[in-house]
Amino acid sequence: MVPSGRSVRVYARRFWWQLRRSITPVVPTTITFDLDQIHHDFSAGGTISMPSSHTFSCPVCGFGRLSEPAYDSSGCPSFEICPSCGTEFGYHDATKSHAELRRLWLDAGAPWRSQTTPSPHDWDALRQLHAAGLKGFEKG
Ligand SMILES: [Zn+2]
Repeated sequence: MVPSGRSVRVYARRFWWQLRRSITPVVPTTITFDLDQIHHDFSAGGTISMPSSHTFSCPVCGFGRLSEPAYDSSGCPSFEICPSCGTEFGYHDATKSHAELRRLWLDAGAPWRSQTTPSPHDWDALRQLHAAGLKGFEKG
């Protein structure tokens, strides 16, 4: 399968993220640089366009309809952009915490960020945060 358009961008970024992460010698004796596995993950490509009825919520704003978890079980970011708060996982949250991004979003008036995905009917940022159990201004 040949990914196209956004998939290519997402997979290229995910590939480099994994590559960078794999060669970071946190505990040098246990880190193995498994290029075959990375290549396999990169080539697999199918997960992003696989239709799924599961939705996931945004750790920044609580938007509950992301198509992938922000981070998978191995800690790899989805590079999906949340249409609600505009956070791209693995990019914006690489340098700022989710709480920090949430505060910035709230400071900006908690706007619906996506230009292409319309907000759900009766969308309300604060109600969404509340429903997801997220508070606006905690530290972290
Ligand atoms: Zn969000």
